[in-house]
Amino acid sequence: MTTTVEQTSTESRYFDPRLVANAPAGPIEQRWDQRRFDVKLVNPSNKRRFHVIVVGSGLAGAAAAATLGELGYRVSCFCYQDSPRRAHSIAAQGGINAAKNYQNDGDSIYRLFYDTVKGGDFRARESNVYRLAQLSVNIIDQAVAQGVPFARDYAGLLDNRSFGGAQVSRTFYSAGQTGQQLLLGAYQALERQIAARTVEMYTRHEMLDLVVADGEAAGIVTRNLVTGEIESHSAHAVVLATGGYSNVFYLSTNAMGCNVTAIWRAHRQGALLANPCFTQIHPTCIPVHGENQSKLTLMSESLRNDGRIWVPKRGDDTRAPGQIPDEERDYFLERRYPAFGNLVPRDVASRAAKAICDEGKGVGPSGYGVYLDFRDTAGGTSAIAERYGNLFEMYSKITGEDPYSTPMRIYPAPHYTMGGLWVDYDLQSTIPGMYVLGEANFSDHGANRLGASALMQGLADGYFVLPATISNWLAGKLGKQPVPTDAPEFRAAEDRVRQRTAQLVGSKGKRTVDSIHKELGRVMWDSCGMARNAEGLRKAIGEIQQLRRDFWSDVRVSGQGEELNQELEKAGRVADFLEFAELMCNDALVREESCGGHFRLEHQTEEGEARRDDENFSHVTAWETNGDPNDHSGELDMVERREPLEHDYVQPTQRSYK
Ligand SMILES: Cc1cc2nc3c(=O)[nH]c(=O)nc-3n(C[C@H](O)[C@H](O)[C@H](O)COP(=O)(O)OP(=O)(O)OC[C@H]3O[C@@H](n4cnc5c(N)ncnc54)[C@H](O)[C@@H]3O)c2cc1C
Repeated sequence: MTTTVEQTSTESRYFDPRLVANAPAGPIEQRWDQRRFDVKLVNPSNKRRFHVIVVGSGLAGAAAAATLGELGYRVSCFCYQDSPRRAHSIAAQGGINAAKNYQNDGDSIYRLFYDTVKGGDFRARESNVYRLAQLSVNIIDQAVAQGVPFARDYAGLLDNRSFGGAQVSRTFYSAGQTGQQLLLGAYQALERQIAARTVEMYTRHEMLDLVVADGEAAGIVTRNLVTGEIESHSAHAVVLATGGYSNVFYLSTNAMGCNVTAIWRAHRQGALLANPCFTQIHPTCIPVHGENQSKLTLMSESLRNDGRIWVPKRGDDTRAPGQIPDEERDYFLERRYPAFGNLVPRDVASRAAKAICDEGKGVGPSGYGVYLDFRDTAGGTSAIAERYGNLFEMYSKITGEDPYSTPMRIYPAPHYTMGGLWVDYDLQSTIPGMYVLGEANFSDHGANRLGASALMQGLADGYFVLPATISNWLAGKLGKQPVPTDAPEFRAAEDRVRQRTAQLVGSKGKRTVDSIHKELGRVMWDSCGMARNAEGLRKAIGEIQQLRRDFWSDVRVSGQGEELNQELEKAGRVADFLEFAELMCNDALVREESCGGHFRLEHQTEEGEARRDDENFSHVTAWETNGDPNDHSGELDMVERREPLEHDYVQPTQRSYK
């Protein structure tokens, strides 16, 4: 592995000419209007001439494909599930933020912008975040128009609840199924376009490579997961909305199919990948309960509206929680952060839970759990059932305990990834003609995402940002046909995919794919999880390299390439995680500061809070990985590049939630 900083900040403002954010100048509140005025437009009658590939049908992808179809473009949309409705977005529980100020509690676009920049520990681009806050209000209007059944109050008005990192109530929700309801809204819009034949849907197709011709995105190569056929698809532009990579930790709250493959393969074709070490560990998940577990379950952050988090003051207290009186309980979040209490942001809450368990005060069989207690909820059981009924039922089914009568036990777990492919203000990657949306890009959340802001970002990207900015690219392609699929670039990409498939199905070793993935997850959790240090990260990099060697020499993949073969699908994804994990650890190693979810033990305040280094690390780290992606014999050649961040509106300070 070689790591090089190409230039230093003293040498030039932009370290790499490709890493220009390209946001308009001028007052921040006018930038998005300005951008929409500046972009070249495509005349309505010309839109049919343009073909766009959208990979992903979660909230970001479905919103983008439906909207592009509605505008009149020809769209091909891909997902690996059997229906767009099964995208991981369906799992989102708690809600979606918007600066509507319906509660009249002091919210505004500026406040949402401010909370998001601060919540991300000042490692996000201000222009993008401001636009996100502006568009948040349009998303709610769009969803309501689609019939999304948001919760309403007694008077029939849209209701709100609170999420971490904010002192206002701005989260719109549909019980504990907000993602499902929003996805049904986006899905019906998508189905309408499928029926209108503006969108062609390719379910059970996995993108396995990006095709680049003359330095521009020309299309993708997919594998039909039912027949095993390798197919090329070409278009004037490619949009990736392929979700996050939390499953690099093996155990996470994500759906088991979530993976890094699409963005990693695009990365290996030259798209820079930003801030991969910025991952989010969510504080309220059901603790790990066994060696053979393959999935962790989230208990939505919305539960922190009413639930109070505590542990017994005495580490050796074995009494049932109901028998421990108040004065012998440590409501540690309320004690440490009186202003925000149980609603501190996720990174802060997770670290506090870990610290108290490390002190030996955790609860449950492993000692790695804290109580989430609803005893004091106003309105009692009926109020709880109305707000969180489905979550309580889920908890009860998984743990066999009744959370109405005994506190839930929770512990932090990998949940969301702020890193992703680098994009500019228009959401265009460093490969012209390729755009990246939703959790797959790095753009808006800095080093820590606030709860209920992922749905907001995915839908802002898909419904509003991309449909406006992509015309700038497409207008320049007027009169030009997409690169034909028999062009040498497509042939070469197909060959790469076939060769890799053959490498995988040819592996007749002894180890299962799952056993290697599990081992990788353990390395990542121990060394690149909630707490990191240089020594642990260096050790992890060595272990990952060894695991990669083990994988290619000793993995066993049964079946063939030309058939439905889920073992092969899994193997391909784990092979990519095994490379990506090394990049993640390198990113964590070179970022010699603590910020948001990236907590370097060497860089903390006396009170155990994250200590940023704004002088040296106020930048986005964007990586390039060179070399032949099918050559697994040598070390990866990773090059570090940087985009400096500017803070004109919210001056970085020590984040305080006290
Ligand atoms: C349990 C849980 C609860 C959550 N609750 C909330 C919440 O309350 N509020 C909130 O704001 N956020 C929440 N989040 C986060 C949020 O759900 C996600 O960040 C968001 O839904 C991601 O949407 P997306 O469209 O970017 O990706 P996804 O929904 O993950 O969709 C990815 C799409 O890409 C496709 N795809 C991926 N790779 C390929 C490939 N190689 N080839 C073809 N297709 C591919 C998939 O088939 C899928 O269609 C939650 C997350 C979890 C895990």
